[in-house]
Amino acid sequence: MNNPACPCQSGLDYTQCCGPLHAGKIAPSAESLMRSRYSAYVLKKIDYVVATTLPSQQKHLDIQAMQDWADQTQWLGLEVLHHNPKAGKNRATVEFKARFVAERGEQVHHELSLFIKQKDCWFFVDPNV
Ligand code: ZN
Repeated sequence: MNNPACPCQSGLDYTQCCGPLHAGKIAPSAESLMRSRYSAYVLKKIDYVVATTLPSQQKHLDIQAMQDWADQTQWLGLEVLHHNPKAGKNRATVEFKARFVAERGEQVHHELSLFIKQKDCWFFVDPNV
């Protein structure tokens, strides 16, 4: 029996890709963390999205709004355009496009995300916090 394909569209099985990260494995790169956050939105694992945001920002996140957004959004796909693993000391950037259907129809979210490494773990820096 085939395992389900990973929602991040890496071409790998979920159990070989974002699944272990959701289960607690440390992301080996900012790109893999970004992919696993996308998959977490698809699977509505908001706890994971929160836990992988920069710890000092976590208390400022609107978790209910994130949950509502995940519930209302149908994700269509992820495309990682560029990963710069050395954007600075303990910093990386990932440029990506995520396609989704929301109230206003099909949309593309194009973002250049910043990630910071703390104690060997990568974290997403939320630009809205
Ligand atoms: Zn994946």
